[in-house]
Amino acid sequence: MDITNKVIIITGASSGIGEATALKLAEKGAKTVLTARREERLNELAENIRNNGGKALVVTADVTKKDDFEKVVAQTLNEFGTIDGLINNAGLMPLSYINKFKTDEWEKMVDVNIKGVLHGVAAVLPTMMEKNSGHIINISSSAAHNYFPGGAVYCATKAAVKMFSEGLRQELAPNYGINVTSIEPGAVSTELMDTITDDDIKEQFKEMQKMTFLEAEDIAEAIYYALGQPARANINDVFIMPTEQQ
Ligand code: NDP
Repeated sequence: MDITNKVIIITGASSGIGEATALKLAEKGAKTVLTARREERLNELAENIRNNGGKALVVTADVTKKDDFEKVVAQTLNEFGTIDGLINNAGLMPLSYINKFKTDEWEKMVDVNIKGVLHGVAAVLPTMMEKNSGHIINISSSAAHNYFPGGAVYCATKAAVKMFSEGLRQELAPNYGINVTSIEPGAVSTELMDTITDDDIKEQFKEMQKMTFLEAEDIAEAIYYALGQPARANINDVFIMPTEQQ
């Protein structure tokens, strides 16, 4: 399927996977809606896209706030008239062991990684259901499959996203023609690890960082592949690992 002129909202577009995805989809002709909290970064990205002949709308939003997401949808409809895709990508990963009781960080992960996804879905669905088409792509993680040190809460949030995606697919795809995909990457070279505040975990990750990580562009490619299928074909999961990661 050609994604030219498809209107696609990308959360967490201010860095990493979201930014690479916005660039990829805009290059392929999509009308991109860039959202995150850091406006300056979004504006720079939008300028880059427009300078290359692409289309981009910037709407700042905090995905933990339902009203913010409703604003994103309202401004998208106002500017582009419809919504064809939502990439629920915003996330954070402040890993720590449970016995450290970093409960504020547990809650943040639940708020952004799970509730943020729910807010996005609730905001775009009325438009997609009305037109009986659309595609929701949720960025889960290999953490939905494999626990890693300090990741009890993070892995749980990503497992929730994976299972929520499957439930969504079963309810929406046959009844409303809305496709749903869960993307599950292993380690990707982005700013995600900067969200780790725990010194023990930072130390442990130094060893892991000797490995060659995936690049954000690799995930953007997987997202483009899932979006580009004919409506009859739903890519349920993409589980993509760095070659060197166990
Ligand atoms: P980055 O840290 O580079 O990007 C995270 C993005 O999320 C930023 O754009 C940030 O924007 C946004 N974000 C964070 N909190 C909020 C919020 N409250 N409201 C709106 N936006 C928010 O990391 P990645 O690109 O790696 O992460 C993208 C997704 O990929 C995440 O869901 C992550 O869990 C997942 N993932 C990443 C892997 C990796 O190894 N990097 C592996 C597997 C999955 P801003 O701060 O401007 O709001």
